[in-house]
Amino acid sequence: MFDLTFDLSIFSYLVPLCFGACVYTISDSGMKYTNVYNVLESYQITVALMVPSMLLSLRPYFNEITLPELRYSLFCGEALFKDVATEWMQCVPNATVVNVYGPTEATIFCTVYELSDKDNVSSYNEVVSIGHTMEGTEAIVIDEHGEIITDNTKGELCLHGDQLTKGYLDDAKNKAAFVKLNDKRYYRTGDIVYKDGNGNFMYCGRADQQVKIQGYRIELSEIEYHLRLITGSANIVVLAVTRAGALASLEAVYDDGRVDEDLVMAELRTKLPAYMMPLKMHFVAAFPLNANGKTDRNALKKMIDPL
Ligand code: AMP
Repeated sequence: MFDLTFDLSIFSYLVPLCFGACVYTISDSGMKYTNVYNVLESYQITVALMVPSMLLSLRPYFNEITLPELRYSLFCGEALFKDVATEWMQCVPNATVVNVYGPTEATIFCTVYELSDKDNVSSYNEVVSIGHTMEGTEAIVIDEHGEIITDNTKGELCLHGDQLTKGYLDDAKNKAAFVKLNDKRYYRTGDIVYKDGNGNFMYCGRADQQVKIQGYRIELSEIEYHLRLITGSANIVVLAVTRAGALASLEAVYDDGRVDEDLVMAELRTKLPAYMMPLKMHFVAAFPLNANGKTDRNALKKMIDPL
């Protein structure tokens, strides 16, 4: 059910083929979540990997969903919320439900957490734990000075192991993304975690401006770059906004009264894939600045979404 550019797709289509199993694909036309459910049910699918956003779309229909044939129900790619995950467990009574975690730079899965008892799911801020490292992956947590944290407090998760990429083509990017610790090369995931008393990593969110929308990793700056080119305006920022009862969405804010939103969006559609398109554009008369004189993104977010 993933675009082939998303590393999770490799698990979904390649692993079954390696084991002599069938692969079923999800049609592009119509509503994706209905197609997903129809395929799961009609073909009695036994193993399914989904991004948690898919569960949010299926959730209104959980009462009608029963998939007794499903043996493994895996989630990966973004935070898995405990309430929806435990509700889903009732729809898949015979499945092992698993939260797996990993960045593309250490394709594909690096840590795993199995939700065995719906009344006893390890979580932080209602986000299901990402569990412990899988064989072949080593993890450490570092503080903002790059020092290894040993007392299970929050810090950035760093990964080492056979799955780790040799690096990006752009060497400047490598310097920021990889660190040498204990004589080993680690990838700085940008994810903030801590370890609980049982040795499970708890996921606390991302450290940087990269966002995940429906499983896609999106650099807000990339969208801003295109918007600036199109409008010729310097002040355009894109924010990931989560409004009550809705999935996180992208929204652009600009301060140039001459911008024609329809034209800009039409042009932007020719530059970016659908999942990178902002849902809305907002005009503000002036951008708020922080103490350093920089655009204050948090203040902007409050201006467009006061809740
Ligand atoms: P990508 O390289 O596009 O697959 O994105 C990797 C990022 O997705 C990680 O660094 C996390 O921020 C996020 N991610 C992946 N799996 C999980 C998970 N199970 N729980 C929370 N976040 C996840």
